[in-house]
Amino acid sequence: MSILENLNNIKQTLPDHVTLVAVSKTKPVSDLMEAYNAGQRIFGENKIQEMADKYEEMPKDIDWHMIGHVQRNKVKYMASFVHLIHGIDNFKLLEEINKQAKKYNRIIDCLIQIKIAEEDSKFGMTASEASEIIQSKDFLELQNIKIIGVMGMATFTDDQNQIKKEFSRLKNTFSELKQLDTKNCKLETISMGMSGDYQLAIDCGSTMIRVGSSIFGSRNYSN
Ligand SMILES: *Cc1c(COP(=O)(O)O)cnc(C)c1O
Repeated sequence: MSILENLNNIKQTLPDHVTLVAVSKTKPVSDLMEAYNAGQRIFGENKIQEMADKYEEMPKDIDWHMIGHVQRNKVKYMASFVHLIHGIDNFKLLEEINKQAKKYNRIIDCLIQIKIAEEDSKFGMTASEASEIIQSKDFLELQNIKIIGVMGMATFTDDQNQIKKEFSRLKNTFSELKQLDTKNCKLETISMGMSGDYQLAIDCGSTMIRVGSSIFGSRNYSN
C-alpha cells in the first residue's frame, strides 16, 4: 500500500483527541513529501542532524518533533525550529534547551519521558524524579521551556497485558503530575503508542501516537 493509503487508514481509526506524529526517521524526503501531500503536517525524527536537514529541505508549515534521546550538545541545532521535544530525561537537558530557546526568543514545548518499561534499555525518569524537578525552584526559573506532557515507551514484547500495564502506569503518572500546575508546566499530552501498539495506547489514554513503519514501511536497520 502507498504512504497515502496507509496514512488514511490510520487516520480513519483515530479519535479526534489523538494527534498523529508521522515518524519518518531514516526515510528520504520524497517519502515525507508523499505524506505531506496527503495532508500530514507533524513529523517525528530521532536524530537532530537528520531532522535539521529535512527541515531545511521541506515546506515550512511542518511541526517537527524530536522523539529520540537528546544529546545536550546538539540542542543548538534544533532550537530555532523544533516544535516539541519528547524525550526529556534529566534537568540539565532542560536547562540547555531553555538556554538555546532564549537565543531565539522562543518557548520550546517539552514532554518528560517516564520510564514505564520493565526493560533496562529504555530511557526516562521515575514519577518521583519528575515530580521533584517540577517542584524545584530552579525549574521555575526556566522561562523558555514549557512541559506540556509525558512520553513513554513500552517494553518490546507481544504480551498485551504487560504493555497495557506499562501504558496505564504512564497514564497514572500523568494524572499525578498534572496536579503540579506551574507557570512552565501544564500537562495535557500523553505521548504513547507506536505502529504495533497504538490502538492499545489509545484505549489506555494516549493523546499522541508516534507511528513510523505502519505509514512508511519497515526501516532498513534495527532501531
Ligand atoms: C521509531 C520510533 C517510533 C515509531 O516506531 P514504529 O514501530 O515504526 O511505528 C516511535 N517512537 C519512538 C521514540 C521511536 O524511536
